[in-house]
Amino acid sequence: MLFDMDGVLFDSMPNHAYAWSHAMTQFGLEMTAYEAYLHEGRTGSGTINILAQRYWGRDATEEEIERIYAAKAELFNTLPEPKPMPGALEALTAAKELGCMIVLVTGSGQVKLLENLEAHYPGFFRQELMVTGFDVKRGKPDPEPYLMGLEKAGIKATEAIVVENAPLGVESAKGAGIFTIAANTGPLEDSILKDAGADIVVPGMMDVARLFRKQYPASEA
Ligand code: MG
Repeated sequence: MLFDMDGVLFDSMPNHAYAWSHAMTQFGLEMTAYEAYLHEGRTGSGTINILAQRYWGRDATEEEIERIYAAKAELFNTLPEPKPMPGALEALTAAKELGCMIVLVTGSGQVKLLENLEAHYPGFFRQELMVTGFDVKRGKPDPEPYLMGLEKAGIKATEAIVVENAPLGVESAKGAGIFTIAANTGPLEDSILKDAGADIVVPGMMDVARLFRKQYPASEA
């Protein structure tokens, strides 16, 4: 079982969306919080360049990328610490009860959240079964992070299930050939996650736990 982190294990996306949209605006690049959700999972430079192309008609320079990303990180760090996502602990527990290996696949390199994993989800994650922003070159929506997750776990795509919340994360997982459950924990329409290739879309992580326990949908339990 391969789990994404932001918007799946931590309710961190509102902070990311706020920080991205406000940091971009400081540099004359208009980005709504809603659009930040559409870009979730992309590398920082990838997101910045999409806006730079739109408003400046060119890619941002290395220096601009550094300054914008630093502004985003600075804003993000002033925001209250993201809370664990409701239902995530139940989903991880259900996965463990099924005897599944638990792998983290995130594009994030936020040391704080990675450290918090152990505090909030003790005993579920192991360093050698984590793919983070420090490991990947291309990042989501490229299949690279999920392919790396399979490799670390020593399992085939057909033996795995991904839990994602973002369209680009779903695209990455499906590109790696993995069955993908989308927990729609943000403001995007379900159809965006379905169009990205999600096999199942559910409203939240508690529903993922119910799926693992074969209690979903509740009316058919
Ligand atoms: Mg996510």
